Amino acid sequence: MASEHEAMWRELGLDLAAHDQLLQVLGDGYGQIFLSQQERPEGMEYFNFVMSEVHGLRIKELVDGKAEGKKVIGSFCVFVPEEIVVAADATLVGLCTGADFATELVDQVLPRNTCALIKSAFGFKLGKVCPYMESADMIVGENTCDGKKKSYETLGTLVPNLYVMDLPQVKSSEGRALLAAEYERFKQAVEELTGKEITAERLAHGIQVVNAKREALHRLYKLRAADPAPISGLDALLINQVSFYDDPVRFTQSVHKICDELEARIAAGQGVAPQGTPRLLFSGCPMAVPNWKLPWVVESSGAVVVGEESCVGERGTRNLTEPQGQDLASMMDAIVERYWKIDCAVFTPNPDRQEHVKQMAADYKAQGVIHYGLQFCQPYQMEALPLEKNLEAGGLPVLRVDTDYGMEDVEQLKTRVEAFLEMLA
Ligand code: SF4
Ligand code: SF4
Repeated sequence: MASEHEAMWRELGLDLAAHDQLLQVLGDGYGQIFLSQQERPEGMEYFNFVMSEVHGLRIKELVDGKAEGKKVIGSFCVFVPEEIVVAADATLVGLCTGADFATELVDQVLPRNTCALIKSAFGFKLGKVCPYMESADMIVGENTCDGKKKSYETLGTLVPNLYVMDLPQVKSSEGRALLAAEYERFKQAVEELTGKEITAERLAHGIQVVNAKREALHRLYKLRAADPAPISGLDALLINQVSFYDDPVRFTQSVHKICDELEARIAAGQGVAPQGTPRLLFSGCPMAVPNWKLPWVVESSGAVVVGEESCVGERGTRNLTEPQGQDLASMMDAIVERYWKIDCAVFTPNPDRQEHVKQMAADYKAQGVIHYGLQFCQPYQMEALPLEKNLEAGGLPVLRVDTDYGMEDVEQLKTRVEAFLEMLA
């Protein structure tokens, strides 16, 4: 497929043939899953455009920015504080981990029983198809689960710019002190990379930009409580996924624009599915681009997804950074406080997550929860069982799904989801 961006991709070191193949699959999947939906809000046009240019115009923006000295930082986890990155006039991008690629090469460097998310990151690197990874000036690897943490030892041999961030696993005062020390170290590393000192004024700006993005998403989440649902779970997930790539200010404006439209829809009683359509909440592992399998299966089975208790969703965006003072120390402390509340399953124990799932189900009037676990993801698979018990004891039915990025189990998943929906009726 000839593209005006070919020279840029070559310059970044991509394997053009493999990259064409990826874009083809992405484009076909997007058309089949997203463009075929009924009653899509017009505001999704913007997100269609972003997706069509996710390897094109957006990369050109990053490359042009780099030519003017603006650095790009890639990350795999929502624990990397975007406020600090924006304060140094750099750009934070999420690195795609939502599709299998170059699996035969990945199998040579990682055990087969590694979760699909980790394998995907390696596949994109080894297959040379990710322009974000190739344009990143720093790649942050966060010590979360054992799989990620150990895989960074190998990733460090494949990329020249891996920065490993240590993260606590227990929510103790020592754990919080570790997070504070690591964010301070990260701030210094970002200052070194960008050559910009992060002053109180700059950090205030970073906090404002990132909070505004979160507030726009909070507005979107609240609107999904309406019945009929004004937007599909697929489109809401896509908006969350795009938040990891897009320019934060432009993204915030686009989310508010679609929210205006959704408010008008709600006032007119319009939705993407009729009133009374079964409403489900997702909870579990993150769904990164282009991992759309489960929401697609669910929504094409006659339900609507009304929320995601996920890092690509509310777990990742819940809470604002709210400094108590205008000085740098107060702002850094507010950043630590905000991220400290993330209830990722790598923490032990992790009781807040159960409460958040219940709260979300009540807020969005979900009739059931689908727990999404990636195969070989011990933290989320282990939490799934007690979570299921707890929710079911409170009268909320749970369907526990363990899957990967392959499409072989689609029919089986459909059968299970349909049976779950029948039970809810
Ligand atoms: S699930 Fe945990 S490790 Fe994964 S992105 Fe979220 S916070 Fe990070
Ligand atoms: S999905 Fe689970 S195993 Fe995979 S990287 Fe995230 S926490 Fe680790």
